[in-house]
Amino acid sequence: MSSGEAVRTDFIRDIIDEHNRTGRFGGRVHTRFPPEPNGYLHIGHAKSICLNFGIAQQYGGQCNLRFDDTNPTKEDVEYVDSIMEDVRWLGFQWDGLYYASDYFEQLYQWAVQLIKAGLAYVCDQTPEEVRRSRGTLTAPGQESPYRNRTVAENLDLFERMRAGEFADGSRTLRARIDMGASNLNLRDPVLYRILKAEHHRTGNKWCIYPMYDYAHGQSDSLERITHSICTLEFENHRPLYDWFIEALGIYAPQQIEFARLNLTYTVMSKRRLLSLVQEGHVSGWDDPRMPTIAGLRRRGYTPEGLRQFCAVIGVTKFNSLTEVELLEHCLRDDLNKRSPRVMAVLNPLRVVITNYPEGQVEQLEFINNPEDPSAGSRQVPFSRVLYIEQDDFREQAPKKFFRLTPGGEVRLRWAYYLKCNEVVKDEAGNIVELRCTYDPASRGGWTPDGRKVKATIHWVSAEHAVAAEVRLYDRLFTKEDMNDLAEGEDWRTHLNPRSLTVTRAYVEPSLAEATPGGVPFQFERQGYFQLDPKDSRPGQPVFNRTVTLKDSWAKIEKKEQGD
Ligand code: ATP
Ligand code: MG
Repeated sequence: MSSGEAVRTDFIRDIIDEHNRTGRFGGRVHTRFPPEPNGYLHIGHAKSICLNFGIAQQYGGQCNLRFDDTNPTKEDVEYVDSIMEDVRWLGFQWDGLYYASDYFEQLYQWAVQLIKAGLAYVCDQTPEEVRRSRGTLTAPGQESPYRNRTVAENLDLFERMRAGEFADGSRTLRARIDMGASNLNLRDPVLYRILKAEHHRTGNKWCIYPMYDYAHGQSDSLERITHSICTLEFENHRPLYDWFIEALGIYAPQQIEFARLNLTYTVMSKRRLLSLVQEGHVSGWDDPRMPTIAGLRRRGYTPEGLRQFCAVIGVTKFNSLTEVELLEHCLRDDLNKRSPRVMAVLNPLRVVITNYPEGQVEQLEFINNPEDPSAGSRQVPFSRVLYIEQDDFREQAPKKFFRLTPGGEVRLRWAYYLKCNEVVKDEAGNIVELRCTYDPASRGGWTPDGRKVKATIHWVSAEHAVAAEVRLYDRLFTKEDMNDLAEGEDWRTHLNPRSLTVTRAYVEPSLAEATPGGVPFQFERQGYFQLDPKDSRPGQPVFNRTVTLKDSWAKIEKKEQGD
């Protein structure tokens, strides 16, 4: 990948530096990104990906992709494939590719080892009984009546659990730690549950599945991960992580926790994202309004923009809410550099230039990107009939309206001065056409007499324009902090009913050659757009607005600094 992004230091890199100084891992740095394949990745995962892969790159280390596939009923190969695609698209390549399910046999053998050491037992309590006897933060838990089974009995029962002799949920294997531990995670946590479900990789080979806490650290250990970076909710699981490693006497990685990303006006839990898809609130995991990597990609986000965002937010130990405007700011910064400026009229109004010769077509020279001279220029046809934005004309203009009005004059972008002489309406009184004249001496946008106009508007030549569908997006939710819901409040009530607006537009002919995933475009005055890869047809392009041009981040930043 191109790593133009600045690498800032942070508390995680400080810890790694310290380990390298003391030689704890012999100077090795080996991280992993461990998604559960139970949904598509979202922008929160991008933060974790940039962190884990970024650290490996920076220290000349390695980073694995590991699928944490211990929940067969919720997982699917569709998700596995999408995750690999998304990580690659973000610009990263894993060193090792692993699945927790590859370790099922080893994890089973380790469980046997714990049983033999008197550190694990088969428990017949129901999940409900286990929950009830767990105690609270202030009260100790109660020991299971099955806690003192003999090693021989435990070995026998555990083997029969594996053999499928018992019903789902009827027994578990639990660690024998301390029901009075102040950390609830150490109160005889469940290591294995019975679940007769088909697994997307191991099929029906297993009917007992390891719990996350039991599988995760040992998987890290097997892969000789040095720094196992996870989000803050696992901080009080760390003693358990370390307990397993120590009890088994195996290689010990270091778990480090950081604050997860929360963004305004969206949700990030996979459970909610799945509901949005299943209940049809969006068109799929890759709906451009979704905070998923697939959605953002389809909308026109770039890997560079996302990586820059992740670099700017950095990592901390404190949960907070990040403004989506910052994400948009980072994206705009990137799109500005790489987008050709083109003309597209989203709500067309027909303009006939009565003094322009019928049948004449001029090719006007347009600079593709003022930010990038190497982007060159192109020819744009100009003719007698044009489309302009409805918004750029007012019959009764308010005081500060400087665009086109009856009798008023504006500049057509890099073309001519245009004056409106007559407004044509249909029987219902709707404006259907403007009859105008142009000043032939103003070619290029300036007149010899130095006459000034206050506005420049964009246009397309009607005869040459390509009809397109344009999709404009707004926030998916109207509520800023979607984690701050009242008790029992349904998060769906905050869905924004106006998150998608579809318009018929006319775009300049050069856009007929747009390709999915190709260059993004800046539609002058309208924002950055990308061709929709799914719904576009030859000759019938569909464009997604990635982001508007208006940068509201600077204002927010100023306000925050003023606080
Ligand atoms: P969710 O709660 O949305 O289902 P998860 O944490 O269960 O997410 P995993 O697939 O287990 O999802 O996550 C893979 C990795 O990505 C983990 O290391 C996890 O900590 C990290 N991750 C998930 N969500 C975020 C987030 N919002 N910000 C930063 N890292 C995240
Ligand atoms: Mg998870």
